[in-house]
Amino acid sequence: MDVPQRNLFGEAEAQTEAAVLFAEIVFDRPLDHAYSYGVPSRLRDLVAVGKRVLAPFGRGDRQTVGFCVGLTSTAPQREVKNIVQVLDDEPLLTPQLLKLTRWMADYYLCSWGQVLNAVVPAGAKELSGTRAIIMVEPLPPMLRPTPLPALTPKQKKVLEILDERHEPIEIRELGRQANCAAGPIRALIKSGLARRRITRVERELPSEEDDPTTRDESSSSAGLVLTPDQLQASAVLEQAVRAGGFKPFLLHGVTGSGKTELYLRAIEQVVREGKSALVLVPEISLTPQTIRAFQGRCGEVAVMHSHMHQGERGGHWRRIAAGQVQVVVGARSAVFAPTQNLGLIVIDEEHESTFKQEATPRYHGRDVAVMRARFEDIPIILGSATPSMESWHNAQRGQYTLLSLPKRVFDRPLPQVHLIDLRHDRHPDKRLHGISPTLERAMTHALDLGGQVILLLNRRGFSTYIHCPACGHVEQCKFCDLALTYHKERDLMLCHYCGYEQEPALRCPDCGLGQVKYQGMGTEKLQLEIEAKFPRQVLRRMDSDTMRRPGSHKQTLDAFRRGEIHILLGTQMIAKGLDFPNVTLVGVVNADVALHRADFRASERTFQLLAQVAGRTGRGPRGGKVFVQTFSTDHPAISMAAVHDYLGFAKAELGHRRPLNYPPYHRMARLILRSRKQEAASECADRLAGAFRAAVETVQAKADAADLRILGPAEAPVFKLKGYFRYHFQLQSSSSGFLHQVLRQTLPSVKLPKDVELTLDIDPQDMM
Ligand code: ADP
Ligand code: ZN
Repeated sequence: MDVPQRNLFGEAEAQTEAAVLFAEIVFDRPLDHAYSYGVPSRLRDLVAVGKRVLAPFGRGDRQTVGFCVGLTSTAPQREVKNIVQVLDDEPLLTPQLLKLTRWMADYYLCSWGQVLNAVVPAGAKELSGTRAIIMVEPLPPMLRPTPLPALTPKQKKVLEILDERHEPIEIRELGRQANCAAGPIRALIKSGLARRRITRVERELPSEEDDPTTRDESSSSAGLVLTPDQLQASAVLEQAVRAGGFKPFLLHGVTGSGKTELYLRAIEQVVREGKSALVLVPEISLTPQTIRAFQGRCGEVAVMHSHMHQGERGGHWRRIAAGQVQVVVGARSAVFAPTQNLGLIVIDEEHESTFKQEATPRYHGRDVAVMRARFEDIPIILGSATPSMESWHNAQRGQYTLLSLPKRVFDRPLPQVHLIDLRHDRHPDKRLHGISPTLERAMTHALDLGGQVILLLNRRGFSTYIHCPACGHVEQCKFCDLALTYHKERDLMLCHYCGYEQEPALRCPDCGLGQVKYQGMGTEKLQLEIEAKFPRQVLRRMDSDTMRRPGSHKQTLDAFRRGEIHILLGTQMIAKGLDFPNVTLVGVVNADVALHRADFRASERTFQLLAQVAGRTGRGPRGGKVFVQTFSTDHPAISMAAVHDYLGFAKAELGHRRPLNYPPYHRMARLILRSRKQEAASECADRLAGAFRAAVETVQAKADAADLRILGPAEAPVFKLKGYFRYHFQLQSSSSGFLHQVLRQTLPSVKLPKDVELTLDIDPQDMM
């Protein structure tokens, strides 16, 4: 961290090449330290901030890849070695992204090199797999001249082909398809109907899982009259986009209130002004439906999935860096897209925990996005029907501007939610049924009227609890403190955490006497039950077991949209984002699944999931109903979700967290120590927590305002995971600065043995 500050983003220095002599290099190591190297004269014109270099590093001076983060003409005190090679033709990161990654290293307490290495996709670092070609693409209708110039038949033919494709086509291929020479193509470009792009493509074009050429013509905004609430919010956003400058908005709109339409309009405006936009969505909602909404209305759109292969990601990265893309839509890591001239960031479903990365660097995509908007000095929209307590709190205290869409479009009512108390609403035969008589009747009724049904059960597999009634033994993972789930289709017991597999047992492996019982209900078992109860209906199950093949997600949803599937059953995969007007009934099979976890966000998560899944119905003129099965009808997360009372829930939840100093009131850091040796992990947890206690006492003796609490150490809720014993403790403080100061000061002073690993999680989401 002792890089001379003036050199970090010294673009001016980078441009005056003659003065450049020394480079500051960071490496993908846990050490947050930049190293000085000399730049030999043959590399002076090539080196630049944001490029990777090869330099001798570490033991034996092995040639190691590092990022150049600064250039200076001031010679360092000590004699330095020279860099050996510059690896990139163009910088991989903009100055703002460099600044953002530096901030991340400071905030999440990891090294700058680790952050850089993690945010730049490996595929972007290689140019070897690419070649330059000339592409031609049609201009979006809004950018074409009016009236349209007269066209020759050949030009018309070329334009037809382009318009049909909607995406760039190689110039020679275009000529071949239109059966013409380059003349008519050039004429079209000249008259402003198409444009030329020199681009680098992967040598082997990747197969697109989702065909981007199929565009939804209905996604055009023409003819759509905004609701009064939309109009009001839209005017505020328009003004903010025009003015520019950092301004965060929290867009709180109930499900089906037309939030997406507002994003689209704001983005259209940004694109019209010649700038670009970044849209972050949870991985799960990167559905063809979402993507189509953006394509076709917003110029050139790049979509970044996390399961894209490296070459594909790299290809996108380069197109974005070259300014060929107006809109980037992607999951968490798209926040680092090297977009030029950014004008707006949108985060949809900002409350989703998938924006948090659970590996180093453990960043929260939403918080990084807000920071990026700050560095780029642009507006940012955080949208949700159920904002996180953090964002809601920020809106309450005026950090974010709140925009509200309290009603659905066309004044459609939110669906009626009926709570089914599982303690009373039972089948007389005493066997385990997934659905109660009431829910079964409601399904029959909805299906008889030609509606479609969504059933949510957030547990996959067949039996979720395998035990011996004679001795009480529960089948557990060999490596984790977690019960195994029986999967009937594979006839195996699986650990959902580490993937451990075991043959199903008949006799108890512990006492050898009892016959093992398979209880608890997962989606597989529910499927059998529903198929038996509704033999004439077509059912499809959607969970990570059935959705393994690429494209299966899209296939199922398309079939559901066409009405070929009557009942869609699945895990939270089906709970979010889907917009199917013919869904008239949603059933939540067990609302309590996430309620009793040892996590202070358990209520929040339950409320969010219920509100989201309820939002999947009543989206068409036929209305919709929701039935929620629960043992806890009085729990605020459930009773308030039933009456769509987000404001009431937020108030109650914040009231509950405040006296406990939980986020959003206090900042939190979680430290986990894990080892294959229980003693070692336990001893280190005690020692580290002790060091923090001592540090806090010294600091507090000086500055009386500083507050910091230490909770623990204790066994983590999942004590054994993947063969490691885990202890954890938490630090809480009202001051993020103080929390960081204590962490920075204390961590280096405690040496851990080799067989104990420390994980530091700032603003943790996962408390298990
Ligand atoms: P949300 O994201 O808030 O859940 P969506 O943006 O998906 O809601 O909107 C729900 C549906 O309403 C979409 O089909 C959308 O095209 C449509 N819609 C949005 N705004 C309007 C409007 N002003 N008038 C009519 N339909 C609208
Ligand atoms: Zn396991």
